[in-house]
Formats: sequence, structure tokens, C-alpha cells
Amino acid sequence: PDQVIPGPVILRRGVTTIVATHQPTALPVDPEDQEVPPPALQTDFGIDTRNDDYTVFHITVPAVDGRGVTRILAVVGAAHDCSRATAFTELCHGAVEDVDVTLNCYRNIDTGQTYLENRWLAGIAEERWIRRVTHLTVPSHSAHDSRFITDNQRALLAGIDGTCRAPGCENPAATADADHVHRFDSDHPDNQDTPRTDTEKMQSLCRACHNDKTRGLLDYTRHPDGTTSVTSIDDGHTVTTVPTGPMARAITTFDQSLARRVAARAEHEEARQAWKAITSMALTLARTYDGKRGVRDIPF
Ligand SMILES: [Zn+2]
Repeated sequence: PDQVIPGPVILRRGVTTIVATHQPTALPVDPEDQEVPPPALQTDFGIDTRNDDYTVFHITVPAVDGRGVTRILAVVGAAHDCSRATAFTELCHGAVEDVDVTLNCYRNIDTGQTYLENRWLAGIAEERWIRRVTHLTVPSHSAHDSRFITDNQRALLAGIDGTCRAPGCENPAATADADHVHRFDSDHPDNQDTPRTDTEKMQSLCRACHNDKTRGLLDYTRHPDGTTSVTSIDDGHTVTTVPTGPMARAITTFDQSLARRVAARAEHEEARQAWKAITSMALTLARTYDGKRGVRDIPF
């Protein structure tokens, strides 16, 4: 009820999935879905030195690589408080050693489809990105007592939400803030019997929408099924937004999958062990898909 009308990007992806399921031959040519030309045809590096005072670089790379480079330049720029152009030259000189950038790839073990940051990858790009993978995990909901969200928790949240969860906003969740839907009550810390950082009580909000929430213009309620009701303080209207990321419909907790169906303790323990076996098998499968390269360790 009251679900907000999804934006054009989300609508197009949704309709494409439906058509692909029922009548693949009717699919329109989709720029996101096209056969990717060989990397050699997608890259170009132009250097313009006509001016004595500055040099202009004109660089062409495949869109998904561009996304990675843009993220890296933005993070380096923010960490060193410099422009992206300065960050680029510092990176070329190897002068940046203190900055970590996390780009999340999501792989569906059943279909082998891989999703980077905010789009599904096509075949060639998929292989290229999988070769860059350094850490593997099977993400699931988790909670801890610290105020700060871990990389794994952030990856899970972005993977579920897909975009900022404010109505009508399509900014990618990958670069959004992780927002505690209900503010932590620092005046009454003793009243909180639940952990401070619980991914089931958090959502992705881009900086602008996060500011709107902080200023009290919108009131958010997160429901157990992952939907969010958003009430405008201005006119009192309530709309519902749904998660649209690659993990929006994934089963992310043992509780969701089995716990409700098993009553006896022994039965419960058995089911829990089976769930653990499934997740470790998923990791093994993911590693097999990865062509065995670049995998250092599996942090949990
Ligand atoms: Zn937003």
C-alpha cells in the first residue's frame, strides 16, 4: 500500500527483467545489456599539451571501470583534501599508500550474475572485475554494540537497498550514508537493550536525503519485511519505498530461512548447522567462479 512510484532507472530494470523472463526475444536493445566491445575499442588516452601552462588528459575507459576509477579518485581526494585532478597525479606518482577504497561486487551463486556497485556486469567486464576481488564473504544481517558500521555490514546494506531509500531518490546506495532508522538515544543509553548497530534497523540514505531526515522533514519507519514508510512532516502524506538492490530478495539470516519452521531445540540446532553448511558451500562456489586469483582471505 502507498508504495512510491519507482524512478525511471528502477522501472526500466524491473520491466526488462519481466520481459526477459516471459518473452526474451521482445527485449529492446538495452545499453546496459549489450555485448561489450573488446576493451581495446573502449579505451583511449588523449594528451593535449598545446597550452604551455597546463595539460589536458582525455581518457576513455569502459563505464564500469570508470566507476571504479571515479570512486578511487573521490576517496583519495577526500582523504588528502585535494581535487580529483591532484589525486590522479599523486596516484600516478605512487604517492598514495594510506587510502583504502572498497568496491563491492555481488555474485548470485545460482545464476553466476555479478553486480558492481549499482549495475549488473556483462560477461567480459565480469571476468575483469572478478580478477580484482581480494576478499570474499557471504553477507548476512548482523548487530554489534559499537556505533560504527563495519565494511561487511555496509556492503550488505548497499546490496539490499540498491539506491537511497528516500522516496523518488535514485542515488546509488554504494556511496550513501548508513543511517540508523531510529536514532540512538545517547541521553538514555541504559534504556537500550538492543545493540547499537543492527543492519536490520538501518538503511541507505544519500547525503542530501540524510540531511532532510536530520532536519526532521521526513520521518522513517522500517518494517520487518524490508519496506520503509516515509512520512512528510510538511503535508502528512505517507509513502512506502522498497529495496531494489541485487540482494533485495536474498535470504540474509538464518532466522528468516529456517528458525520459524523448527520448534525443538535439537531440530533447531540441526537446521542451524545445515544453514552454516549452505553458506560455506556458497563461499566455496564463489571462489571456484573466481578463477582462483586474487583471493587473500575471508574476513568474517
Ligand atoms: Zn537520496
